[in-house]
Amino acid sequence: MFEQKATNIYWHNGAVTRSDRERLNGHRGFTIWFTGLSASGKSTLAVATERALYERGHHTYILDGDNVRHGLNINLGFSPEDRMENIRRIGEAANLFRDCGIINLTAFISPYRKDRQTARALYKDDSFIEVFVDCPLEVCEQRDPKGVYKKARQGIIKEFTGIDAPYESPENPEIHLHTDKMSVKDCVEVIINYLIGNKHIPA
Ligand code: ADP
Repeated sequence: MFEQKATNIYWHNGAVTRSDRERLNGHRGFTIWFTGLSASGKSTLAVATERALYERGHHTYILDGDNVRHGLNINLGFSPEDRMENIRRIGEAANLFRDCGIINLTAFISPYRKDRQTARALYKDDSFIEVFVDCPLEVCEQRDPKGVYKKARQGIIKEFTGIDAPYESPENPEIHLHTDKMSVKDCVEVIINYLIGNKHIPA
């Protein structure tokens, strides 16, 4: 964790609360945190789940790994320290969206348990939903939609998760999906049913 550098700073409360915003939106704000190996299906599921939520009339936003590295995290690479800072910033950004009363979906490998725990710790209630997008490395490597595994095997990309950097599987994710055995449609159905069953969205 970082030490706060600034001194003499004070939290300023607004006149509109998160509950007010949620009432206006007609649903709660929460974060669906997809984690898994590259090519396990995080982005695909985030996009398909967002579409399903949008069609139900919900307010949504996706924070996606590569996209965020074009802007907010442009100065970060893939060393353990940079990965930690990457996830810390995403966690904070996701929490802001949640505070806006928006359903936000994050699609990041987020390989370290400790970093995911740091993101989760910002939430004091059940509005952080970790989705383990589980797919064997061999299958991810066969899919390789961006050709990154091939480059990692050739040594062109270093510190690649699953090849020469670790992935720590979630121990207690809210949702666990096996994307090598289930279709995208079925995975989305599991997520939507979880959200309805746990009163995150109306039936
Ligand atoms: P990631 O965001 O985890 O790197 P992508 O979503 O970019 O992964 O790529 C996953 C690939 O796997 C896509 O080509 C997608 O069509 C395919 N795929 C097959 N089955 C599934 C599934 N059940 N869920 C998600 N993706 C799947």
